[in-house]
Amino acid sequence: MESVKSIVGRHRKDPTELLAMIRDVQASRGHVPREAVAELAGVLGLSEADVEGVITFYHFFSLTPAGTYAVYLNDSITARMNGRTAVARAFAEAAGCRFGETTADGLIGLHDTSCIGMNDQEPAAVINGVVFTRLTGAATRDLVAAMKAGTPVTEMVKSYGDGANQSELVRAMVVNNVAKRGPVLFHPFTSGSAVQTASVLKPEGVIARIKDANLLGRGGAGFPTGLKWDFCRRQKGPKHYVVCNADEGEPGTFKDRVILTEIPRLVFEGMAVAGYAVGAEEGILYLRAEYAYLKAHLESVLGELRREKVLGKSIAGVKGFDFDIKIKLGAGAYVCGEESALLESAEGRRGSPRNRPPFPVQTGYLDKPTTVNNVETLATAAQIVAHDATWFRSMGIPASAGTKLLSVSGDCARPGVYEVEFGLSVRELLDMAGAHDAQAVQVGGPSGNCLSPKEFERKISFTDLPTGGSVIVFGPGRDLFEVVRNFMEFFIEESCGWCTPCRAGNAILLRKFAKIIGGKASRRDLEEIESWGKMIKASSRCGLGQTSPNPILTTLKNFPELYEARVRNDTDFVPEFDLAASMAAGCEAAGRNPSFKETHHE
Ligand code: SF4
Repeated sequence: MESVKSIVGRHRKDPTELLAMIRDVQASRGHVPREAVAELAGVLGLSEADVEGVITFYHFFSLTPAGTYAVYLNDSITARMNGRTAVARAFAEAAGCRFGETTADGLIGLHDTSCIGMNDQEPAAVINGVVFTRLTGAATRDLVAAMKAGTPVTEMVKSYGDGANQSELVRAMVVNNVAKRGPVLFHPFTSGSAVQTASVLKPEGVIARIKDANLLGRGGAGFPTGLKWDFCRRQKGPKHYVVCNADEGEPGTFKDRVILTEIPRLVFEGMAVAGYAVGAEEGILYLRAEYAYLKAHLESVLGELRREKVLGKSIAGVKGFDFDIKIKLGAGAYVCGEESALLESAEGRRGSPRNRPPFPVQTGYLDKPTTVNNVETLATAAQIVAHDATWFRSMGIPASAGTKLLSVSGDCARPGVYEVEFGLSVRELLDMAGAHDAQAVQVGGPSGNCLSPKEFERKISFTDLPTGGSVIVFGPGRDLFEVVRNFMEFFIEESCGWCTPCRAGNAILLRKFAKIIGGKASRRDLEEIESWGKMIKASSRCGLGQTSPNPILTTLKNFPELYEARVRNDTDFVPEFDLAASMAAGCEAAGRNPSFKETHHE
């Protein structure tokens, strides 16, 4: 077993590599023992509390044995819709322990986890970093038998997905499910053409072209990319950085997974072009831990690009056009999709969002001006620079130029990724995906909007229906309250806990929601839950808290009849605590009348 000292040395004692060090310790020991925490802290000059704080922040790190085989089974709503409960039961029965526990011999640990980016092929799990998709009870029992026989986890993968997922370096069960190849991302691209054109345009020209194309950030916020690069470029300082946000954690989104698998060159060349524009020589691809299986493949593409001189020194023969990229892995935390939290994590700390301002373009990675862009944004930028702004603007609609890659899952015949031009209606998308009887569509994931059929004519665009790319379809038989509950539990689990409205408010909101769907609410409770939701949105510090009440607020707005049906109109106040019901078991044991009132008067 490699010593902690050796692991730290391999990472050049660099505190920004703390997550990588912890990952290595955990991989060799099955968890991070106390002695290792102390050693890491001692060698890096940190406190033990600092190191422990990082370990406890991320889903995939553990201070206690997580299992020689650590099974992280996705608990997203789509996984549940596809039989996750039966798979979880099969795991627990075959392994002999419950979720949240490790078997007595330490061999198997069962853990729930949030969306792992496989919504199109659920139920899915990550076992020791390897992704297993389309699980069934029988497949689960085979997996556990293989674990008991000591089989390496990579040998348990019996079938491989399509496209690059079959290549030696990926070798994953994951299917790409590219249902529609659109005219931007999947437009033919000659490797090196974007950096070549950039070298002719010069940095200011690159920024002007991106501005002219009206490229807006594809992660969901829609900030103008050219403006962000311009702000970053104008910041004085010896060093600037480009960070690619490959931490798509919004439940239901998996389109960056497909881009990184099939067209990573576009992303890396987009980063090089961004680097040239803002004056950065270093780029970081922050890859979510759930996609760790792609790392070897991505490293290999980086190697090819270096050999082709698309990365490295004097790119395109231009002296001073130097740029290279390294990959940093996350460790499982939805909030790290928020750019300032991502930067904290990339620097080796807990992924707590920073106060803004200052913005990352002013004070970003290692306090240097940094542009943080989404995977899809950078891939699109490479195509824009290689072609031109007019070509790009000829697609989509005026305020939303170009295309959007959507991840469609749930109750539809053809789940997968669709590259569509902005301006497409939800109904047109549903037709493409073979979803003809949807009762609701969640656009933009839990933080987005739950639409009723009355709104299916709305258009995917920055002005009408903005989305990072997640589209989940719910058919007529689905219980939307179960959906809302799953989403709210997700936000509660993923809150970093820094601010009270998000940390405590969402738990209170869920309790109020439970009261309503339990049929114990009056009209006043409906008004109250709405005002609590608005208060949490208004007073939370980052995007997570600011959008977390959306599952309740958007269903309340778009499906009022569901809530109305649960509300009592005969009273203005229904107590949350039912005294008679809570005493029933005790009264029965004592042989007394379970009605508190009658008992009291006896
Ligand atoms: Fe953390 Fe939530 Fe506050 Fe964001 S809103 S800083 S996730 S507690």
